Amino acid sequence: MNDFAEKLLAWFAGCKRDLPWRRLQHDPYAVWVSEIMLQQTTVAAVIPFYNKWMARFPTVQSLAEAPLDDVLKHWAGLGYYARARNLHKGAGLVAAEFGGVVPSDPKQLLSLPGIGRYTAGAILSIAFNQEAPILDANVIRVLSRLHAVTGDPKTSVATQVVLWRLAEEALPLGRAGEFNEALMELGALVCEAGAPRCGTCPVSEHCAAKRLGDPTSYPQFTGVKKWLDVEDVSVAVRNAAREVLLVQRSPELALWGGLWELPRATRQDGESLEGCVARAAYEGAGLNVCAMSPFGVVKHVVANRRITLHGFEIAALDFLEPKAAAWAWITPETRGNYALATPQVKLTDLLFASDTQGRLEL
Ligand code: SF4
Repeated sequence: MNDFAEKLLAWFAGCKRDLPWRRLQHDPYAVWVSEIMLQQTTVAAVIPFYNKWMARFPTVQSLAEAPLDDVLKHWAGLGYYARARNLHKGAGLVAAEFGGVVPSDPKQLLSLPGIGRYTAGAILSIAFNQEAPILDANVIRVLSRLHAVTGDPKTSVATQVVLWRLAEEALPLGRAGEFNEALMELGALVCEAGAPRCGTCPVSEHCAAKRLGDPTSYPQFTGVKKWLDVEDVSVAVRNAAREVLLVQRSPELALWGGLWELPRATRQDGESLEGCVARAAYEGAGLNVCAMSPFGVVKHVVANRRITLHGFEIAALDFLEPKAAAWAWITPETRGNYALATPQVKLTDLLFASDTQGRLEL
């Protein structure tokens, strides 16, 4: 083993965090779940979700057999719900096509939804100890600095090719999983994005960016995120028992597919807020509005969308059964039975809080 790998692995052995998925590394399903949850989500945020998930779906078979609604309920609050839908679909395929055993063949792994080269590399190296490289945000940062890699890893294919090659060449024979984890841990704990701790870095003598004197200039990201500002309206309508209507989004939708919400619409160019309220009620649940009153606003960011979500309580004409594919009447006590995305949880919190403050009846 080379000096770099030796130093990195020695540091990892002494400094690695005790994380729940590290106790299940022999189990490819457990590694798969953790890697998907950790995409675009911090370790601290993932831990409680991971523990709850593994208690409810401890095996790939148990996930395959669970209804999608239950799966989404256990993901609610973690965001990027396509990850949960893909995990569920992937578990079904493993059960149907691979006898319930997560495959150790790279091609078979890559055939599963939501598994790209990075996730496959993590499962193959960590659970099966195969010599497969990984390249997540932490590893990109560490390798870019160690080798002073030029070009934007987000947009330059040539830079991506260089980074994958470096990640592959660095793997020590027989210890790929541990090494990949050590690289990620170094990025998370030492080689941080804004403030790398070069003074305590175990591999600083191998680092080109440190020698050049400006580690934070790597990776050479150039793009500026383009924000899309969106206004949404959700309407709250009640039945005679003061229960509130929720409708289920189509599972086919990329954003929040399969989750439950107050009927909702996105405000169109030139449309008044009131017009959007009427449309949300009609398109979301087949309801004709006869009165409306605002009860709160929630701001939320999803990917590049900055969403302002307006909540309106409405009264509707002539309905007994809302026209929506799936719907339910909820109270504060029964809301937890349904999977709601975070902005809808916040909005219904505001709605129920406005009840306890004695709002006027519509
Ligand atoms: S020396 Fe500094 S920049 Fe280089 S890998 Fe270590 S922490 Fe990162």
